[in-house]
Amino acid sequence: MGDVKTCTKCGRVLGLDKFYNNKCGLYGKHSRCKQCMIEIAAEYEGSHRDKINKRNRDRLVNDAEYAARTQKASRDWRKKNQDIVCESSKRYCGKNAERNRADPKDEITMKVCGKCHNRLPRSEFHNSYGMPDGKNCWCKKCVSEYGKKRRSKT
Ligand SMILES: [Zn+2]
Ligand SMILES: [Zn+2]
Repeated sequence: MGDVKTCTKCGRVLGLDKFYNNKCGLYGKHSRCKQCMIEIAAEYEGSHRDKINKRNRDRLVNDAEYAARTQKASRDWRKKNQDIVCESSKRYCGKNAERNRADPKDEITMKVCGKCHNRLPRSEFHNSYGMPDGKNCWCKKCVSEYGKKRRSKT
């Protein structure tokens, strides 16, 4: 026992293997089960990206201002749905988000790693659908080091 978790979206009690890993989440898992995460992601893809891809791809390429607005729209979506994707990791990511928010220009290009606490360019973070800003809360280096440590332990 103990290896189960209740999905905060569908309310089902499921084994931990039914949840995606979330390094900064409670028990290292997302609070929503895989199925719910997929549904949330699909909903997002369907309502936003599809439209963008089919109708506005050219515009996105040719119109820098429009591209910026589109990017902002998806950022806003993530912010609005922060509780969906980052509920259990607020304690860690919330702190970082606040620090990032101190300088709005910084927020776009820089991000503080939740593990080593270095302020790094966003390109130093893996993309992560589960996170409010679309980036993992650990930098690439910390993620790979964590992976190495885990592998050598087992
Ligand atoms: Zn669920
Ligand atoms: Zn780091």
